[in-house]
Amino acid sequence: MGEGVSTRQRHCVFCAIVAGRVPASIVYRDRATLAFMDVNPVRPGHVLVIPTAHRAQIWDLAEAESAAVYRPLPGLALALKAAMAADAVTIFSLNGKAAGQTVFHLHVHLVPVHAGDPLLRRRGRRVTFRLVQGRASRARLDALAGRIRACLFQPLTLAAHRDKFASGLRRSRRRGARGA
Ligand code: AMP
Ligand code: ZN
Repeated sequence: MGEGVSTRQRHCVFCAIVAGRVPASIVYRDRATLAFMDVNPVRPGHVLVIPTAHRAQIWDLAEAESAAVYRPLPGLALALKAAMAADAVTIFSLNGKAAGQTVFHLHVHLVPVHAGDPLLRRRGRRVTFRLVQGRASRARLDALAGRIRACLFQPLTLAAHRDKFASGLRRSRRRGARGA
């Protein structure tokens, strides 16, 4: 895409957020990416990560752009998990209308998940992934964004959390090895 502003970009709600023309509760921003709260979250703490440049789908990204979009994801996911006291984080991206994409500016969904309330359920070979969007006030979204930002910029908290997670994994591997 050239440097000019295309009609698509002019009508793109995520480009409008990048430009500050539409309000958003910002979690993280660097030169190439922006993370903000989803306005209709499927779980409290639902975050979207986008490239700041208008790219409709993942295959429209140049290699350096895709690296820039993915670089902040581990830190964001960990901060989200800590801020929401979640057990897990589900990460997905819908690319193309047939996949269910509704905003045609690439975005990665990060959704904190608690053990008793999974997004994905398995019954034998039947796997269902059910998303129900809720509503959240701007004040609530701003508060959640602040909570996630606080975890994002506390490397010690993150390191401790990562260690806790790793020791949990080690314990479950040991149990697995013992056949428990
Ligand atoms: P998808 O169906 O993957 O294209 O998801 C689009 C997502 O963008 C949905 O989860 C919407 O709730 C979210 N969304 C749409 N407009 C806004 C907005 N102005 N601010 C934040 N999230 C938005
Ligand atoms: Zn856009």
